[in-house]
Amino acid sequence: MKLTLALVVLIGTLALACSSVTPAPAEPTLNIDATVEAKVAQERAVDATVQAEVSETLSASDAKTPGTTQATCELTGGETVQSGWTGEDTGDNSCNSCFCTNGALGCTKMACPAHQVSPDSRPVPTHLPTPKPKSPATRVRPTWTPVPVITPTPWPRFKGTCPEVFPDAISIPYKEYFDGLIDGYDGIGDRKTYSYVSPTGSVARNGPFATWYYEMSIAYASAYVPTKFDVYTGRGHPGISWQDFVDYSEVLCDAGNDETLKRRVQLALDVLLDHTSYTGHASKWDAFEYIETGANVIDAVTPSGLEHYTKYITGAGVIIVGGSDVPDGAMLQARESVVYMTSARPEYREILQRNQARISLFGPSGDSSVLPEYPDSNEPGGFAMGMTDASMTANSGWLCYPGNPDRGGDPVIHEMVHTINHIVFEDINEVYFYERIYDLALSAIEKGIFPPFQQNLPEGEQQDMSHRVGEYWAMTVEGYIMDREGFKSSHDTREWVEENDPELYELITRYFPTEPWPDGKFCPDA
Ligand SMILES: [Zn+2]
Repeated sequence: MKLTLALVVLIGTLALACSSVTPAPAEPTLNIDATVEAKVAQERAVDATVQAEVSETLSASDAKTPGTTQATCELTGGETVQSGWTGEDTGDNSCNSCFCTNGALGCTKMACPAHQVSPDSRPVPTHLPTPKPKSPATRVRPTWTPVPVITPTPWPRFKGTCPEVFPDAISIPYKEYFDGLIDGYDGIGDRKTYSYVSPTGSVARNGPFATWYYEMSIAYASAYVPTKFDVYTGRGHPGISWQDFVDYSEVLCDAGNDETLKRRVQLALDVLLDHTSYTGHASKWDAFEYIETGANVIDAVTPSGLEHYTKYITGAGVIIVGGSDVPDGAMLQARESVVYMTSARPEYREILQRNQARISLFGPSGDSSVLPEYPDSNEPGGFAMGMTDASMTANSGWLCYPGNPDRGGDPVIHEMVHTINHIVFEDINEVYFYERIYDLALSAIEKGIFPPFQQNLPEGEQQDMSHRVGEYWAMTVEGYIMDREGFKSSHDTREWVEENDPELYELITRYFPTEPWPDGKFCPDA
């Protein structure tokens, strides 16, 4: 597999895993260092908020495999080169510099100008990531091969595309079109405008990715349309058909008329570019219908494949489903939590509903692998829902409800904090939050008021500064919402947060309620 493809796959499968690491039930008071990010399954290769710097890892580790015969690489034009080769690629990618490392061809990712199109009309160069020179030997060639300027051709009015919505788009060779679109997509996956990069290179992601994908897709469709084609197979892609493009265009045309469809656009982009390998990708599951239930658990009307879920309740724009083992009390408590959490910002409820926010409860024993969408997961606590996921998950046994006075972290509250971040904040482009949260996290860590916590991480991965920065918001808001002394190891009461982390208090109360819980307090029996 080419290195470039490997990067695409990893970046395209961002998962939103979060685990509430709870001690054994025999320790009744200390399920406090709860809820941390974790990788759920192997194919969810990159954690939602902690993304390894895969490019560096791949090139460094692969390059130093000693004593074995190293595999050759095939250039775009078909030539074979030895491992260790560096130079310019050939064929349609000849403007890029590449290196071959034991069968993996890594290249800079400029969109090469085709002969028919002037450099000025290359697909959205502003969306292309700045090529990063790996070494002097692989530095990007500074000059472009001059090509003749041509007059843009008018939009070819193929059935299924949307000339009325994007009337100024010009036709460009389809290969160039998709190369540029893939570069734009990858560039957003790599974007670190609001992310935190630790000294070891791991990344706590942050930013309005859904908004960025949406803006890129619309801008690209406004500027370009591909020439008619049968199948595109560039960049190691298994194949984009003309019909795939038509399906994608139909979503974009709707979006062009309605700015409320960021999730649909991002899903369509994932489907078009084949980033749907994750079992929980929302494109693979029909959505539950939203039915107002009030505080009543009803029989689920399940879409095909989701018959596991027999219980259903809604509140605050969020659908909550559970299997037959999930206690009704847990369903009701999950609903009460999301209703309470959104009570200061009721406008978020419509956004959650429009984006099909769903909580999949599992347990009270076992892990998330019982859920039909996540058979490869082994998450004991829960994980958040990202914009393109089918749902978030939480262990019903870790919720506090009458008859189950569970002390400690609450995975519905914790994962809903992440989910509001990934769905609502990304949708509304909440820059005020993005510009502040990681500085507050670093400041709290520096002051010693946000200690390291127990964390469920993939094998071989050590807790890094990026994990702590990435979890700061969800863990502190979780403590703030519960407002029960000792339930968390820091930030466990509102009074404590206001006194010890006042800027965080200001940020939390911008989004979350200051009024007490309807029953006076959270988890009154504990
Ligand atoms: Zn978390």
